[in-house]
Amino acid sequence: MSIDQSRLLRTAVPGPRSVALTERRRAAVPAGVGSTMPVWAVEAGGGIVVDVDGNRLIDLGSGIAVTTVGASAPRVVAAVREQLESFTHTCFMVTPYEPYLAVAEALNRLTPGDHDKRTVLFNSGAEAVENAIKIARSATGRTAVVAFDHAYHGRTNLTMALTAKNLPYKHGFGPFASEVYRAPMSYPLRDGGIDGTPDGAAAAARAIDLIDKRVGSDNLAALVIEPIQGEGGFIVPAPGFLAALAQWCRDHGVVFIADEVQTGFARTGAMFACEHEGVVPDLIVTAKGIAAGLPLSAVTGRAELMDAVHVGGLGGTYGGNPLACAAALAAIDTIETDGLVERAQEIGALLVDRLTALASVDPRIGQVRGRGAMIAVELVRLGTLEPDPALAREVAAAAHRQGVIVLTCGTWGNVLRFLPPLTISDALVHDAMDVLESVFADAAPGAGARIARATASVG
Ligand SMILES: *Cc1c(COP(=O)(O)O)cnc(C)c1O
Repeated sequence: MSIDQSRLLRTAVPGPRSVALTERRRAAVPAGVGSTMPVWAVEAGGGIVVDVDGNRLIDLGSGIAVTTVGASAPRVVAAVREQLESFTHTCFMVTPYEPYLAVAEALNRLTPGDHDKRTVLFNSGAEAVENAIKIARSATGRTAVVAFDHAYHGRTNLTMALTAKNLPYKHGFGPFASEVYRAPMSYPLRDGGIDGTPDGAAAAARAIDLIDKRVGSDNLAALVIEPIQGEGGFIVPAPGFLAALAQWCRDHGVVFIADEVQTGFARTGAMFACEHEGVVPDLIVTAKGIAAGLPLSAVTGRAELMDAVHVGGLGGTYGGNPLACAAALAAIDTIETDGLVERAQEIGALLVDRLTALASVDPRIGQVRGRGAMIAVELVRLGTLEPDPALAREVAAAAHRQGVIVLTCGTWGNVLRFLPPLTISDALVHDAMDVLESVFADAAPGAGARIARATASVG
């Protein structure tokens, strides 16, 4: 690794060169494209992003769960370079090429379940989600689709309809695709039931009852769900919730689609998050971590569903681009060869350890949750479950100024999420957590006194 794996602040963050580029950007890029930090990257790898001012930032975002194997993983760089010199594109729908086939075979092997599978490749997560629904509708002859509270499935028209949150994803962009229905999610922190015990089976029964009444299983082509919700706030459903839904889908001929765009490829300490619950989806959608940053996505699923679509019904000019396929094969090889599933578990244990210690002295952290290297803290007002997005913004901004890239998420924007590349060192995780600790201690003057007085605890 040529990039020094330590945090370094040479200038204020953002530095003068970043400030100048941000100025230039205003005249060239629409305001509608947001950026977490106004800091411009020149180099990235391991657990570090280097900016144009020479600052080295600790990466706890992986470009939103994409660079799982690192942003300049040696095997990926070599494989893409080699493919680049052979050809950049022929279009799989014109003259196919083997790297596409090899990615399909790898996904058929790695995804949950040992049934006969097929895989089709696309470019983005949203495009793959849309195609999973096309496949489910074609295979079942039904039209309705169920998605969940707090869901995020993308920004195209059909996936905006599936996504739950209005601002910033949907506001002003309607009308949305029809035949999309919403069901209640299992959200243990906010879903404690009468005795405060989150119960996955009960949450599933509640969702199924509403689906039955509002839609009717005979009309329902597919149920699409993130096994751990990403943008919605890293919500881990109560144990048994996913399995009960999957069973109900099986019993009623409904296609169970797992959107593992954010959770896939070792992120959660398993190759796929469904494995934690022993759930075998009919279709699984992957993207983000699949190809170390090159645009690639996939739908993998039961052969009889996938093969139900007429010839020519699936495709796209760039889907399964050869450079992206070469990157995916090298990324998968890196995950398997370097034991990154286990590494995600180690990083997760480290994060949970540090964050739990922080939560024990700062009850504004309502819950520490997640799996593997997909961990979050949900921030609440003292002694309540009331979301505190202002605190999340303040803490994230202060961490950014200290050279730590941290992202927020959640329906209320009150969740800090940690998604480091699995190539990050323990030392960098500790340094980032030290920064976070100091930032929480500094956040909101007087908070310390309020914490000392508070007796209620939540989560
Ligand atoms: C990011 C994401 C998507 C959309 O992926 P894009 O590549 O941005 O289109 C869909 N589903 C989930 C769960 C995601 O996290």
